[in-house]
Amino acid sequence: INILAIESSCDETSASIISDGKILNNIVATQSVHEKYGGVVPELASRAHQQHLIPVIHEAISTAGIAREDLSAVAFTRGPGLMGALMVGVSFAKSFGYALGIPLIDVNHMQAHILAHFIDEPKPSFPFICLTVSGGHTQLVLVKDYLEMEVIGETLDDAVGEAFDKTAKLLGLPYPGGPLVDKYAKEGNPHAYQFPLSEMQGLNYSFSGIKTAVLYFLRDRLKEDADFIAKNMADICASVQFTLIKMLMQKLKRAAREHKVKEIAIAGGVSANSGLRAELNNLAGELGWKVYVPKFEYCTDNAAMIAMAAHYKYLKGEFCELDVSPIAKMKL
Ligand code: ATP
Ligand code: MG
Ligand code: FE
Repeated sequence: INILAIESSCDETSASIISDGKILNNIVATQSVHEKYGGVVPELASRAHQQHLIPVIHEAISTAGIAREDLSAVAFTRGPGLMGALMVGVSFAKSFGYALGIPLIDVNHMQAHILAHFIDEPKPSFPFICLTVSGGHTQLVLVKDYLEMEVIGETLDDAVGEAFDKTAKLLGLPYPGGPLVDKYAKEGNPHAYQFPLSEMQGLNYSFSGIKTAVLYFLRDRLKEDADFIAKNMADICASVQFTLIKMLMQKLKRAAREHKVKEIAIAGGVSANSGLRAELNNLAGELGWKVYVPKFEYCTDNAAMIAMAAHYKYLKGEFCELDVSPIAKMKL
């Protein structure tokens, strides 16, 4: 069984081939057009997907050493994501599947981020809790089986990746700033400055307060010293990152306790953060958790995770029809 999987939900155009449950490749074209705008511009994302999609798919099929006729199904991200961006991948998948006479598999992008854990060893065992932290989402998910997942907590406003990126923007760093905040934080003192921890009810999060806190903090300090940011970049980044990770971990610990689960996974782009990884490892020692972190290339947007999800849906015979359309705010 060979499945072609396509990802086009945001600013990565990606294709992957999975053969009998084994990922053969993961071709990713990252869009650089957005850098100068300090964020993803939806219209430009759609156009870039149009340009990159066929070369990326061609490369996936040819490097897998298979022919188009060897494909058993075509999978694609149906949502959540940018409508115009999703439309490019969905339309291509439908035409391609129709032309080849093979079934279509629609995949939920957030489910796929979690199923990235099944690409390589070690694999978590069910039930596990996955903290999905990305540019658009922050969710605590109780994963009962490959395709059976329940959101037990989530952000009520900004995603944590957004908080990283907005902080970076206030500090004058280029987009996406998350990885740069991480880099500077390594050299800084996480206790240099205090930022408020917003406490939401239950297992929910709120990350919109921190950007306002950072904004006012910088405004006041810059009045006294115009070079404040340049002089204290590492300490500011370390302190903000410390606060964000503390908020993430408080609810994760509570979720693990309430659901009596010790298998803990993280997924999404922010799981690349070195402070988050270090703190998870600390907690693993302290609380007896087994912690799972996917390889970096499977943390950010990629088609291999879509292929993995498609594999499990194929095994269950979960296909979709040709009238399928994208869902920008698709639920898990
Ligand atoms: P979603 O999956 O919710 O639709 P997305 O696809 O844009 O959102 P990803 O590509 O999974 O999100 O992740 C991108 C986010 O990860 C960006 O906000 C980026 O700043 C953040 N990020 C990447 N590396 C790091 C890092 N080392 N530290 C902090 N944040 C990081
Ligand atoms: Mg992205
Ligand atoms: Fe994503």
